[in-house]
Amino acid sequence: MLKCRAVWKKLAPLARESSTLCRQSVRRAGLNNGRPVRVQVAGMSSGPLGEGGENKLYFLLVAAAGLGGVAYVSICLLSINYLNVTYCVEFKLTFIILWLLVDNSVNSSAVPEPEPQAAPLSQEPSPGAPDAEAVAPSETTEPLPGSLICTDCVSLVFAYCLSLLLSCIVTFMQSLPADSTSASQKILSHAPYLLIGGGTASFAAARSIRARDPGARVLIVTDEPDLPYMRPPLSKELWFSDDPSVTETLRFKQWNGKERSIYFQPLSFYIHPEELNSAENGGVAVLTGKKVIHMDVRGNKVKLDDDTEISYDKCLIATGGVPRNIQAIERAGEEVTKRTTLFRKIEDFKSLEKVSRNIKSITIIGGGFLGSELACALGRRSTESGLEVIQMFPEKGNMGKVLPEYLSNWTTDKVKKEGVKIISEALVKSVSYRDDKLEIQLKDGRLVKTDHIVAAVGLEPNVDLAKSAGLEVDSDFGGFRVNAELQARSNIWVAGDAACFYDIRLGRRRVEHHDHAVVSGRLAGENMTGASKPYWHQSMFWSDLGPDVGYEAIGIVDSSLPTVGVFAKATAKDTPKAATEQSGTGIRSESETEDTAISPVASSAPAPTVAEQKDNYGKGVIFYLRDKVVVGIILWNVFNRMPVARKIIKDGEEHADLNEVAKLFNIHDD
Ligand SMILES: Cc1cc2nc3c(=O)[nH]c(=O)nc-3n(C[C@H](O)[C@H](O)[C@H](O)COP(=O)(O)OP(=O)(O)OC[C@H]3O[C@@H](n4cnc5c(N)ncnc54)[C@H](O)[C@@H]3O)c2cc1C
Repeated sequence: MLKCRAVWKKLAPLARESSTLCRQSVRRAGLNNGRPVRVQVAGMSSGPLGEGGENKLYFLLVAAAGLGGVAYVSICLLSINYLNVTYCVEFKLTFIILWLLVDNSVNSSAVPEPEPQAAPLSQEPSPGAPDAEAVAPSETTEPLPGSLICTDCVSLVFAYCLSLLLSCIVTFMQSLPADSTSASQKILSHAPYLLIGGGTASFAAARSIRARDPGARVLIVTDEPDLPYMRPPLSKELWFSDDPSVTETLRFKQWNGKERSIYFQPLSFYIHPEELNSAENGGVAVLTGKKVIHMDVRGNKVKLDDDTEISYDKCLIATGGVPRNIQAIERAGEEVTKRTTLFRKIEDFKSLEKVSRNIKSITIIGGGFLGSELACALGRRSTESGLEVIQMFPEKGNMGKVLPEYLSNWTTDKVKKEGVKIISEALVKSVSYRDDKLEIQLKDGRLVKTDHIVAAVGLEPNVDLAKSAGLEVDSDFGGFRVNAELQARSNIWVAGDAACFYDIRLGRRRVEHHDHAVVSGRLAGENMTGASKPYWHQSMFWSDLGPDVGYEAIGIVDSSLPTVGVFAKATAKDTPKAATEQSGTGIRSESETEDTAISPVASSAPAPTVAEQKDNYGKGVIFYLRDKVVVGIILWNVFNRMPVARKIIKDGEEHADLNEVAKLFNIHDD
């Protein structure tokens, strides 16, 4: 602003003088021995009159001023929310200078062009040009000294102004926040409810806080550029979309055919962070693209990565986790890293979707639910576009850490049918980049050549804030240790993947699943408003290998435990697709809560055990046992019966005959 003022002081006399000189030259040019001549429009260029140089410059000026005006108006419009006042004033001043110049020149050029037959122009001095009379009328049409001074000055001034305007624009653009909300963080210094992380748990907490305290002011801070969204469709439905712009719309058809967005709520649901403390009824605001890097738990405040400090009354840590990598890739160097995806976020989906269209071979390392889902999703591409899809893992079959061996093998056959080449019992020794290919050397000597790697080898809970906050991290499971009410300190709660909690039935645990994130986030939010409830919910999770095979699981499902499986022949109704058609929701956990638990009624049909199934594992129930007590259950292509499973886990009884217990799921009735 000061710069502009100084410049204005210098420029104003020049501008006035230029304007005057211009008028004079017009007059001189307009009079030829007292006779009116057809006058070239007032010149601003040093080019000879009559060649249109002045015209060009004049139009340039007008255009520049017009552009300046448009820029000014649009920037001021933009500025309604984000522009800081200084820039606004600088723009205004610069624009005013330009405007004055052009205005002056327009005035000059606006001297009426005399008709040839008109009377001679009056020699009376114009009020705006008191010194005009001092200059003798010219007899020639040569460019006059005055005209030269005028055009040079104005060009100079104009150039200066233009550069000033450009510099203002550049400075302003540089000062623009990377996202739409960061400007407001300068204003926002306190949030009564501060939620760190913009994932599922945070969003669930925000909703429950507002449900119990309708006027609550909730601020979510997330280092992602996106509003809170659900992750499960990133490895499932989004890959099966027919919409070529799915990576932009992020809308997908659920297995039941209904369309929805992966965002929990549209932008209109949230209030702007700037309005958080003034909005009459409070609301939920999201500060995107900002990372909390330090917690001062005594001072009840956090520091963001741009040094902003925000104090809070109550705080939730829901920082989720970061995908693990394998050491062989980490030490392989940049070329390998560039060709490796660690899959977790929207941007990972976008980039992998694009990459998989432009390469010939892709290898997924990891046989868990994420790796297997992505393998099936990409496998579909193998039939469509000839993409080679390889999945490798140390286990014998897909999801070998979760499923009993016979079911894992059966699943592997299913995955193969989706067009995936399975390399089981594969331990990666090294990865290198040679001749435009990634070479994966396995410990048993096998060599796999591929173009791109997806490492889906688990998650590291994000406990970066533990150190500055002085919070305890569990040495066995990782994650912030919390009490039964999900509290780490009196005014700090933790939920979702990052929480290590005490499960009254199953002991201390950490769970990395959507339903747990929803329910623990919801409970933490309730407790932040004073509910003091224990986290006794037994969360579930699900995984789909495409629309036809899926399972839901609860409790501890670990293939190293003894299991009992009871199966039946699947019908067309026993698929994830049919299940979502019936429940009307694609996110299965949304349809089931603890409240829906019912007393199961056993089916009267006989329940054949796994031995009788002869490899037909179309649908069934798998019980996981610890000390003869059921601690985990998988419902294999059996849907919407999770409350029954939950009750069995909760009861924690010894069962003499699990075939009888299996009847509670009515798998033979359909
Ligand atoms: C591709 C994919 C598919 C999945 N499918 C299933 C499924 O089918 N079924 C199932 O049950 N579960 C599934 N899950 C798991 C489920 O999505 C997670 O358990 C759930 O998202 C955890 O929620 P959260 O809120 O704890 O963490 P997240 O959703 O990870 O959210 C944490 C957020 O905090 C941000 N953050 C971290 N640190 C900071 C900081 N210091 N400052 C600001 N922001 C920070 C992170 O960037 C992230 O946005 C899937 C996960 C993935 C990735």
